[in-house]
This record gives sequence, C-alpha cells and structure tokens, in this order.
Amino acid sequence: MSRVVVVGGGVIGCAVAERLSLEKHQVTLLERDQLACRASGAAAGELSPSSLASDSESLAMFPELVARIEKDSAMNVEFRVQQGLKPAFTSDEARTLNREGGRWLDAAECRKAEPAISTDVLGAVLLEHAHLTPPQFVRALARAAAARRAEICEGTPATGFDITRDEIHGVRTPAGNLAADWAVIAAGPWSREVASLASVDIDVRPQRGQLAALDPGSLVLKRSIFWSNGYLVPKGDGTVIARDAARARSQTCAWPRGRKPAARVGGAAARDG
Ligand SMILES: Cc1cc2nc3c(=O)[nH]c(=O)nc-3n(C[C@H](O)[C@H](O)[C@H](O)COP(=O)(O)OP(=O)(O)OC[C@H]3O[C@@H](n4cnc5c(N)ncnc54)[C@H](O)[C@@H]3O)c2cc1C
Repeated sequence: MSRVVVVGGGVIGCAVAERLSLEKHQVTLLERDQLACRASGAAAGELSPSSLASDSESLAMFPELVARIEKDSAMNVEFRVQQGLKPAFTSDEARTLNREGGRWLDAAECRKAEPAISTDVLGAVLLEHAHLTPPQFVRALARAAAARRAEICEGTPATGFDITRDEIHGVRTPAGNLAADWAVIAAGPWSREVASLASVDIDVRPQRGQLAALDPGSLVLKRSIFWSNGYLVPKGDGTVIARDAARARSQTCAWPRGRKPAARVGGAAARDG
C-alpha cells in the first residue's frame, strides 16, 4: 500500500483516486476549488469513439466502471448507450466514412431515420456512442473513492512538493504538509504550472471548447449527429447540445437548410472552458 496524493479534482484526478482506492492505496485528493469546477464540469459528456481500436476498447469498459461507481456512490451518472449518425456532405467524405466501417445509410434512409437532417447530406454512417452527465460522474467517482477511505479535500491547493534526491516525500498545502510516496498531477491545463513546483517540465497546454444548449422547438432529433467540426446531441431534458456551435453556424451543418441552430435558440445556455 502506498500513500498517494492526487492533485486536481476533475474527471482525471477523481478517476485516478477511485481506481487507486479500489486497489487499497491510501489516497488524498487535493482540489484547489471544487470538484468538477473546470473543464470536467463544462463538458458535454460525449463518449464517442474515433476509428482507433483503443477508443472502442475504452468505451467497452464504461458499463463496468459505471455500475461500480453508481453502486459505491449511490449516485446516478445518467450513462446511456445510443446510436448516432456521421453524415457525408461530399462524395470524398462519403468514401472516407465508408472506409471507417459501420452501417452505411444512403440519403433516403438518413432522412427516414432522422427527418430533421439537412437535405445536403449524401449519406451517413450509423455508429454506437454513449454519453453521461459529467459533474455527476466526477462527484460519483470521488464519492466512490471516499467510500473506500480516500480523503477528498476541496478548497485545498497543492502549493509545493518535498523532494530529496529525486524522491517525493510530501505535498505542501496551505493547511499543512501531507506525507506521500507518490504524487499524481491531474490538474488539467494547470498541470504544467503544478509540475513546475517539483521542477518538472511537462508540455500540457489548454485547448478551448465551447458548447451551447439549444431549445430545438418542434424539431425532433432522435439520434446524435456528428460532423468534422462538431456535433448535435439530444439530451433527456429535451435540449440539444451543440459543440462548436459558433463555428458550425457559419459552415456546413447537419441542421436543415434555413433552420440552423442559431435561429432556433430560445433560452440557449453557453458553456465554455
Ligand atoms: C465545453 C467543453 C466540452 C467538452 N466536451 C467533451 C465531451 O463531450 N467528451 C469528452 O470526452 N471531453 C469533452 N471535453 C474535454 C474534457 O472536459 C476534458 O478533457 C476533461 O474534463 C479534462 O479533465 P481534467 O481532470 O484533466 O481537467 P480539469 O477538469 O480542468 O480539472 C483540473 C482540476 O485541477 C484543479 N487544480 C488546478 N491547479 C491545482 C492545484 N495547484 N491544486 C489542486 N487542484 C488544482 C482545477 O481547479 C481543476 O478542477 C470538453 C471540454 C469543454 C471545455
């Protein structure tokens, strides 16, 4: 058993804490503000595999993980496996998508499956994906870890490390020092800054992401629609989550011509990170 201090209470830090506590390590997680207060709270919760085999393997591990943390945390993370469409707007795109595998729907089948889809769509690949609600997922991971005696400390930043001869002995916080055999830096875009406190240089840079929650009015979208620069995902509460909506509004979009998302936004809520 090791004493491990995890720095960062986003999805990565909480997932690491959950797993290490399952393996009976003595875990303390430090979160500067609140759990899931940054990217992990703003995310859409999309779990959509790319064509990489490791992505599909990763997605296949989710049902077991979700079952375990929902049981140990007594929380529901709203995990759903769904079907989505990846449409092609040009014959080049159609050829590339066809090579990726999955069931191909021609234009007529696409419109039958999703009457709201743009008439510009030549066809689409039907793919399986999943989604969950990120803030619940992060809190459930933390609660499951806490149920196995991990200590979750919100409002507690890591401010330094005690290191001698390349070995870590402790992590400093304003509330005092914690003894540690290992430290895991999971501070998202702040990881470089945190690692520099241990005189380690790691090349982690932030990448901006934006979401808009749209009210689709009378339009019905049954499946998620993915395209090169974004996606539309219907959520259980009736809203449609649009990724990179600002970009999508000015480019080809899977929304019907003349009825682009911008025109339909009633009470749109934007999430940015
Ligand atoms: C709008 C948007 C939509 C997205 N949608 C998706 C999606 O649908 N699917 C998907 O897979 N990904 C999505 N992402 C990406 C995903 O959210 C991130 O990759 C993921 O949340 C990163 O998690 P993290 O734990 O590494 O970082 P973060 O969530 O940023 O967590 C890092 C934590 O470290 C804390 N911290 C920083 N410094 C210290 C310190 N010194 N001491 C203690 N704590 C510290 C911060 O307060 C923060 O809480 C989206 C991102 C955005 C912004």
